[in-house]
Amino acid sequence: MTDILSMTYEKLLDLVTTDLSEKRFRADQIFTWLHQRRVKSFDEMTDLSKPLRDRLSKEAFITYPKIIKKLSSKLDGTIKYLFEMADGERIESVLMRYKTGLSVCLSSEAGCPMGCRFCASAQNGKSRDLTPGEILSQLYSIEDDIGERVSHAVLMGTGEPLDNYENVISFLHIVSDKRGQDMSLRNVTLSTCGIAPNIKRLAGEGLPITLALSLHSPIQSEREKIMPIAKVYPLTDVMEACRYYFEKTKRRVTLEYSLMKGVNDRDVDVEALKKITKDFPCHVNLIPVNPVREASFKAPGHSEVLDFRKKVEKCGINVTIRRELGRDIEGSCGQLRNAPAKNNERKS
Ligand code: SF4
Repeated sequence: MTDILSMTYEKLLDLVTTDLSEKRFRADQIFTWLHQRRVKSFDEMTDLSKPLRDRLSKEAFITYPKIIKKLSSKLDGTIKYLFEMADGERIESVLMRYKTGLSVCLSSEAGCPMGCRFCASAQNGKSRDLTPGEILSQLYSIEDDIGERVSHAVLMGTGEPLDNYENVISFLHIVSDKRGQDMSLRNVTLSTCGIAPNIKRLAGEGLPITLALSLHSPIQSEREKIMPIAKVYPLTDVMEACRYYFEKTKRRVTLEYSLMKGVNDRDVDVEALKKITKDFPCHVNLIPVNPVREASFKAPGHSEVLDFRKKVEKCGINVTIRRELGRDIEGSCGQLRNAPAKNNERKS
């Protein structure tokens, strides 16, 4: 059976014209039903002939995740979703409201193999990659649920997008297709922990997305302690790949920096940050670390965060502090998924 939501328009066209021996315009009709009208069954595609709908039902499937739990912030309208996929795997997505529009944070893998020590998603490793359709259907399910259109997406949920490279690239092609969701790729951010070869590969895809590097420490030996992937791809290689990404795409790279008290908020960290970003047009995004049940990292106090920002600014680095959304709901990625199953049932 073919997972039809995972197919780019070109693949769908091939299925329709080659396997099903139908005219090209049928592919346009099917793509529109799937990605604009969001039907959940082939029977709803009423401008297709009954025999074609029957054949599609036999050869392909449309799958959406189930909402298992939904937490809404009373403070800022953030909504956190726990979804269950067809095989029982659970993933998280978040809807955030900004002045610029609605944004979703999407998961790219069920679990994550990267083992970052401050991250709840890393606790049980990776179960499997998500398909392009499973990444996309998080967005579609959220739009269905809230009845509003989402304009921005960040691949910053559970999983390392560049560890699931082909599926993520297909997702980007489908979500930006003018015949479907038509999301501007300039509104999409992909966050990576630093898989250097795939950062370079991504630079060559011709996709104008924003790259965000989860830096978290500008010192190799310290970074290795909190992010095991740093042992495989050292900081020098990762920064070289980011510079290459900028040169190739002319898109400024964001450096994500989760501030952890006593770990990466010292003067020596500011100095190292200055050194690795020299002559590199980047933007540092400071994020006071979310307390994770499974780890012992603490966020610095508000004045210490402001102080750190001031020191970074003095080095001539473009820096902001990320607005914290959804403080009153379980904040950090992976915490819903890791919660005991008995607490995961949807209340409404
Ligand atoms: S921070 Fe990202 S890459 Fe690291 S373990 Fe968590 S989900 Fe994976």
